[in-house]
Amino acid sequence: MAELTLKSVGKTYAGGVDAVSDVNIDIKDGEFIVLVGPSGCGKSTLLRMVAGLETVTRGDVHIGGRRVNDLDPAERDIAMVFQNYALYPHMSVRDNMAYGLKNRGESKAVIEERVAEAARMLELGQYLDRKPRALSGGQRQRVAMGRAIVRQPSAFLFDEPLSNLDAKLRVSMRMEIRKLQQRLGTTSLYVTHDQLEAMTLADRLVVLNGGRVEQIGAPLEVYRKP
Ligand code: ADP
Ligand code: ADP
Repeated sequence: MAELTLKSVGKTYAGGVDAVSDVNIDIKDGEFIVLVGPSGCGKSTLLRMVAGLETVTRGDVHIGGRRVNDLDPAERDIAMVFQNYALYPHMSVRDNMAYGLKNRGESKAVIEERVAEAARMLELGQYLDRKPRALSGGQRQRVAMGRAIVRQPSAFLFDEPLSNLDAKLRVSMRMEIRKLQQRLGTTSLYVTHDQLEAMTLADRLVVLNGGRVEQIGAPLEVYRKP
């Protein structure tokens, strides 16, 4: 766990689009921040800058006090969960979850233990030898979460992780993420379009508009305003 700090962060894409401007957010150790706002307001861009998938044009991103602007994604100690799951289709569930740890050179014993624990938490034990194509959407998303959890990162980033699931699954996965959050207490930045997700998960809500922070506050505070 670690605090995650955005200081005057901005992004101008090649071609001159100002996607994010002067964003300041101090995320406390263990805090769960949900980022909302209309389509095109810069949510994905912001997340991708924190992940290291997009360069930061202006300002600084700190994780656990360390400036990470110029670090590769793998060096940031952050795990990201994507809307489209981004699983490796040719690998089993087990290997998908183990991949990051193997790359990092963890021992076989550590990898087995972490994968087994994540599989227990996410009720994936009976699917470990399957390929992603033989799983339901909800199961695939749980594998994507398992892959993030096993790394025991300083922070999680979620980019609309539930928006490809049907309404019923979204409700149960929302509760599942809430349980994981209570159990792991990992600093998180979560993008969603779903107000119930935001209300259920957020310690604080950040509303972006036109690439700028419009409001920051507890969910009830933010949603009460017109
Ligand atoms: P899109 O065009 O991408 O569907 P919307 O304009 O529907 O985007 O807004 C996306 C979500 O962001 C909404 O579901 C809403 O919950 C949230 N949202 C947008 N603006 C605000 C706001 N000012 N305060 C709180 N939540 C907001
Ligand atoms: P959101 O996730 O809130 O829908 P995005 O971060 O995807 O918003 O986009 C913010 C703005 O940046 C939009 O105007 C979008 O068109 C633009 N944008 C996003 N990605 C790129 C890119 N690779 N190149 C140029 N402009 C982009």
